Amino acid sequence: MKICCIGAGYVGGPTMAVIALKCPDIQVAVVDISASRISAWNSDQLPIFEPGLDEVVKQCREKNLFFSTDVEKHVSAADLVFVSVNTPTKTQGLGAGKAADLTYWESAARMIADVSKSDKIVVEKSTVPVKTAEAIEKILTHNSKGINFQILSNPEFLAEGTAIEDLFAPDRVLIGGRETPGGKKAIETLKGVYAHWVPEELIICTNLWSAELSKLAANAFLAQRISSVNAMSALCEATGADVSQVSHAVGKDTRIGPKFLNASVGFGGSCFQKDILNLVYICECNGLPEVANYWKQVIKVNDYQKSRFVNRIVSSMFNTVSGKKFAVLGFAFKKDTGDTRETPAIDVCKGLLGDKARLSIYDPQVSEDQIQRDLTMKKFDWDHPIHLQPLSPTAVKQVSVVWDAYEATKDAHGVCILTEWDEFKKLDYQKIYDNMQKPAFLFDGRNVVDVKKLRDIGFIVYSIGKPLDP
Ligand code: NAD
Repeated sequence: MKICCIGAGYVGGPTMAVIALKCPDIQVAVVDISASRISAWNSDQLPIFEPGLDEVVKQCREKNLFFSTDVEKHVSAADLVFVSVNTPTKTQGLGAGKAADLTYWESAARMIADVSKSDKIVVEKSTVPVKTAEAIEKILTHNSKGINFQILSNPEFLAEGTAIEDLFAPDRVLIGGRETPGGKKAIETLKGVYAHWVPEELIICTNLWSAELSKLAANAFLAQRISSVNAMSALCEATGADVSQVSHAVGKDTRIGPKFLNASVGFGGSCFQKDILNLVYICECNGLPEVANYWKQVIKVNDYQKSRFVNRIVSSMFNTVSGKKFAVLGFAFKKDTGDTRETPAIDVCKGLLGDKARLSIYDPQVSEDQIQRDLTMKKFDWDHPIHLQPLSPTAVKQVSVVWDAYEATKDAHGVCILTEWDEFKKLDYQKIYDNMQKPAFLFDGRNVVDVKKLRDIGFIVYSIGKPLDP
């Protein structure tokens, strides 16, 4: 069997690498229109950082795993075509600010129809609005030249930072398909691929719409949990309760469970906000405004948490940060990834720069170019679908990117921890304190530091949802 995956990104690359590793009898080609991405996949410097990924790729590349820009050749040769292209939020036209932009998907589908000379199973790997398969079927069948296409939905549940672990031992694999003989046969074929390593009881088969909607629902539930605990963190600060103690007590209830209950500066990443907005749009289109408002609130609380964090910094530092230096530790949206899409660090940094602070940023996996790009990019405001202006060139000059936490914190008035990298737990905070301006402030947006220990050193510490410094 030959597999081709269109889209060599955070999902397409790792997912196909694991399929190639677990299925040595299958030839896997990952194709992309981005020549630079493909050349990075073929080099020693992979385009994404993901623990364990290098080893998997090295074991299979050029054996049964190939990365190529020759999209048409590999799609034409494949029996099974995964489509894992990006599905960002639309920024203009109908549904701007909420609906998923399916431009990349549609052009991939048209290309599949165009180059196919034999029957194919086309698998939705990207996260798409419910009912997308119906649209894809139309595009494929109306352009099919007698070729039979079966569409499956097989959403991906991996989390960045643990992608390889998640792919090796998934909680479940979800496959949605038509309940026709052709649909059932296609489901069995895809099941056969996963059966190489996933226990049968973990492979869930549903109809197409349930599979498509389950992915949006799963991301909405996860993000909702974060917003719930973050909303609680604000109440903790107002009352003297400690959010870690509250989360621990709440999470001990087996109906609730302990995972995803850490308070923080907010969620980020390319998926949560985009998928909830997509869900909101689908609810509105289906005449369900109250349901739409319910999910919208998850993002509003997330935005509130980020601005609350910035306001706390400014108000703690005598109501001005103008000219003050901040060490920003962490820029990625979570640890163990270099991905900065929708990272809360962008909003926090912009908030501080807006008040004329100076920033020295350090992240072990994010380059200076990436940080500069993120901070100067126009931001799209989903709540009022407009482009917010990028930072002024003067504000950008207030940013330096360094390659060491100690360098970043030298002479700083404040430290902001924005990503929960393990190394930030192990820093020599006495040394950092000694080299900072006094009073030395530390704002922990991920609750990684030992508050008592830092206060004993002399820091004024703000930790999300914790009692404030006496
Ligand atoms: P990405 O932007 O990293 O990768 C998408 C790739 O598709 C890009 O390299 C792009 O060049 C390529 N592409 C676009 N159109 C193409 C075309 N016509 N032909 C060939 N290549 C094309 O995106 P990602 O993070 O891998 O996400 C892909 C999809 O998976 C999205 O729908 C996303 O919501 C979903 N998803 C992402 C994650 C995650 O953690 N990143 C997890 C689960 C699901």
